[in-house]
Amino acid sequence: MTKVLDVKDLHVSFNTFNGEVQAVRGVTFDVTKGETVAIVGESGCGKSVTSQTIMRLIPNPPGFIKEGQIVFEGQDLAQYSEKQMEKVRGNDIAMIFQDPMTSLNPTMTVGRQITEGLIQHQNMSKQEAHEKAIEMLRLVGIPSPESRIKQYPHQFSGGMRQRAMIAIALACQPKLLIADEPTTALDVTIQAQIIDLMKDLQNKIDTSIILITHDLGVVADIADRVVVMYAGKVIETGKLDEIFYQPKHPYTWGLLASMPRLDQDDNTELLPIPGSPPNLLNPPPGCPFAARCPHAMKVCTEQMPETTEVSTTHQVACWLDHPLAPDVKPPAGAVR
Ligand code: SF4
Ligand code: MG
Repeated sequence: MTKVLDVKDLHVSFNTFNGEVQAVRGVTFDVTKGETVAIVGESGCGKSVTSQTIMRLIPNPPGFIKEGQIVFEGQDLAQYSEKQMEKVRGNDIAMIFQDPMTSLNPTMTVGRQITEGLIQHQNMSKQEAHEKAIEMLRLVGIPSPESRIKQYPHQFSGGMRQRAMIAIALACQPKLLIADEPTTALDVTIQAQIIDLMKDLQNKIDTSIILITHDLGVVADIADRVVVMYAGKVIETGKLDEIFYQPKHPYTWGLLASMPRLDQDDNTELLPIPGSPPNLLNPPPGCPFAARCPHAMKVCTEQMPETTEVSTTHQVACWLDHPLAPDVKPPAGAVR
């Protein structure tokens, strides 16, 4: 399978008055053609920083890539100049955000926001770009696109704005779409429509997707593979089924146990993970989850566990996976 993106040992830090915050600490994962990879974890785990770094959207200063590679189609984006990145952004790699108002330009018609990229990146004439923009709005399910194209973002409803943002992002047929919490601000019905739309568009234009989310329900709906992040590190990664049916890391167990289940009524008590992640100004030497882990052993606080292979597609970084460790089973609520 062709790799579209290969992130290798990525470290991203921010300089602050208190010292260096190590937001991303050695993240490695890849994305193949047409695949949807979900990056999941609590807020502050480094998932958004990782995705913004791929787009090189982290302002420097205070942020900087300390180490690592972001190989996209054979080129290391970590070494790209701002000028080189301008050709990549919106053309080869596009991004959609939780709040469309942050990425839509309020002073420009929706149509112009689609045609600009097409004229700039794809050398289309104004007329060609106009036709393509109407086609894109129709594709994302916006009714009467011929008149909608002349409207401004504030004239669209929340769900429509999200669709418009997807139309802009996909107009140039990017090889990679990064979606950062794309449905979090929407109500459940529209959420489901947007997810269906993304799946549908992916089939039509064969874009690879990185989906950043804390919502495992959305992950179950759309992801092929899952990368679980905690305190700036990847702690478990595997195919969707491996993560949902054979989770290995106690943090993944906690995430799964705190996910609402459709087969149970609303009164079922969710199990939030007690405690909070470590301060990344001064991360602990051992497993970053040790302070919250019900199974922590002495070694966990002293030494970071190596990443081991559960299968060729499933990796975990936890001392419980060591042959000498006690046999601990996931809690009942964590297994789907
Ligand atoms: Fe828990 Fe230790 Fe595994 Fe970390 S390495 S998740 S502390 S058992
Ligand atoms: Mg975020």
